[in-house]
Amino acid sequence: MTPTRLVVLAGPTAVGKGTVAAAVRERHPDVWISVSATTRAPRPGEIDGVHYHFVDDATFDRLVADDELLEWAVVHQRARYGTPRGPVDVSLAAGRPSMLEIDLQGARQVRRTMPDAVFVFLKPPSWDELVRRLVGRGTEDDEERARRLDTARDELAAESEFDVTIVNHEVHAAADELVALMMLGPERHDA
Ligand code: 5GP
Repeated sequence: MTPTRLVVLAGPTAVGKGTVAAAVRERHPDVWISVSATTRAPRPGEIDGVHYHFVDDATFDRLVADDELLEWAVVHQRARYGTPRGPVDVSLAAGRPSMLEIDLQGARQVRRTMPDAVFVFLKPPSWDELVRRLVGRGTEDDEERARRLDTARDELAAESEFDVTIVNHEVHAAADELVALMMLGPERHDA
């Protein structure tokens, strides 16, 4: 039996990866979405074990040392984020359509270890729209925002490394496009 293929969703900061992932979660409960571990503090409304596993530095060190992460990266020069390996293996073995929502550095690591995954680049309709979304979100201070925009500029240049691009004009349309991709099955992405 061909194992269900993993979909890796990446794209520049503030493009709306998290919002698209939340829309997939809401509209397609059959899709399994990995919950990352992170050393960053929870934002208001974020729930441990649902949005992230919020862990301290020592715990993250242990996860890395024990090879429990499929990939991990320092994002925005601040916090560490990583994908727990075990739940991904369990989901794929159960034949569930499965998805990671991670940054570009993480996607590159998964590309090396799981080359059969489908790599999807979520792109903003325009640079101005990306800036508008980052400012509108209002969760970062000026310095952090400037840092994230620098990262986003580099990340946008990585589109050609990906198998598929989805333009995030509207969150539900992007989520449906993503799920349609997962449902196509492995053979269809080999071209
Ligand atoms: P935020 O702090 O805004 O929730 O996420 C910041 C960035 O971390 C986003 O670009 C998100 O895709 C990325 N991220 C979230 N989880 C992971 C993960 O497990 N691994 C990697 N490499 N990046 C992640």
